[in-house]
Amino acid sequence: RAEVTAKSLALSEVMTKAGEYYKQQLRTAPQAIAYLKKRGLTGEIAARFGLGFSPDAWDGLRSVFTDYNIPALVEAGLVIDKSEEEGGGRKRYDRFRDRVMFPIRNTKGQVIGFGGRIMEQGEPKYLNSPETPLFQKGLELYGLFEARQAIREAGYVLVTEGYMDVVALAQMGFPQAVATLGTACTPTHVQKLLRQTDHVIFSFDGDSAGRRAARRALDACLPHANDDKVIKFLFLPKEHDPDSYIREFGTDAFEQEVRDAMPLSQFFMREMIGDNDLNTAEGRARTQFDAKPLLQAMQSSGMRLQLVRNLAQVTQTSPSEIEIMFELSQPV
Ligand code: ATP
Ligand code: MN
Ligand code: MN
Ligand code: MN
Repeated sequence: RAEVTAKSLALSEVMTKAGEYYKQQLRTAPQAIAYLKKRGLTGEIAARFGLGFSPDAWDGLRSVFTDYNIPALVEAGLVIDKSEEEGGGRKRYDRFRDRVMFPIRNTKGQVIGFGGRIMEQGEPKYLNSPETPLFQKGLELYGLFEARQAIREAGYVLVTEGYMDVVALAQMGFPQAVATLGTACTPTHVQKLLRQTDHVIFSFDGDSAGRRAARRALDACLPHANDDKVIKFLFLPKEHDPDSYIREFGTDAFEQEVRDAMPLSQFFMREMIGDNDLNTAEGRARTQFDAKPLLQAMQSSGMRLQLVRNLAQVTQTSPSEIEIMFELSQPV
C-alpha cells in the first residue's frame, strides 16, 4: 500500500516536471508558436491549457532529470527503453520529440499524461502517453479540470473527440468542452460527466469515425440516462469537427448547432431503425431486436417507457407487448 503511494507520487512528480519543461521549451520554439498561431490559438489560451513543445532531440528530458535512468521515467511513459537485443548505442530515448504537447490533467489538476501533435504531415498525427497507474484512458477526459467552472456556468458540457476541439472551442467562447482521448466514450466517462452536470451534449466529428463514436456514446449513456438528465447529440457536416466548424462558420452558428442538437430519444430511434424497412414484418422485428439490449441496459423507468412507446409505435406493437417480450421489469 505504502509502496503504491510512493510510486504514484514519484510518477506525478515526474509528469509535473516534464510538463514544466515542455512549457518552457515552447517559449523558444518559433515553429511551434507559429503552428499554434496558424491554428488560431492565442498565447493566453495556450497558457491556460499549459501547452508545450517537445524539442527534436532523442534525450531532451536529460536536462530535466539529474538521473535520466530512473525507472519512473519509463513508468511514466516519457522515455522508451530499447531492449538489449535491438542493440545500438542508445538504450533509452524520449517518447515525445518535435511535437506540440497537450498536458492531460486529472480533476485535481495534476498532469497525468500527454498528447503530442506532429506539426507537419506525418504518422502518427497524435502520440498519447501510455496507460500508467496514474492515467487510465477510459476514465479521464481531456480538459475537464480546465472546464469545470465553465460547465457549471453554462449548465452543460460539450463532449468532443480531440484536443484541438477543446482548446479551439475554449478560445472561441465555449470553455465548457472536454474530449475523450481518442478512445470510445465509456460508461465511466458518462458517470464522471453526470457528476458535473445534468446536461451533456456530444459533438463528435462529422466523419464516419465520429458517427461510430456517437453510437458508442449512446450505448454508454443509456444505463445512466436518468429522468433528470438531458443528453443530446450534435451532428456536424461530414467534413467538419467542432474546431474546423466554429472557425469556418463562427460562434453564432455553433451556438445554433448546440441549440438544435438531437435529443437522445430521437437519436435512439434513428439508430434502431437504421436501414430497416418498417413496411415489412422483418424490418420491424429487426428494429425491435436491435433495441432490446439497449432498453434492457436502462435503469431509468420514465425514459425507458418513452422509448418503448416510440418503438411500439414504429413497429406496430404495443408498449406492454414489448415489455413482456424484452422481459423489462416493471418500473419501481
Ligand atoms: P487536428 O485538428 O489537430 O488534426 P483532431 O483533434 O481533429 O486533430 P482527429 O484526427 O479528429 O484529430 O482525432 C481526434 C482525437 O483522436 C485526437 O485529438 C487524438 O486524441 C486522437 N487521435 C487521433 N489520431 C491519433 C493517433 N494516430 N494516435 C492516437 N490518438 C489519436
Ligand atoms: Mn476525426
Ligand atoms: Mn481537427
Ligand atoms: Mn477531428
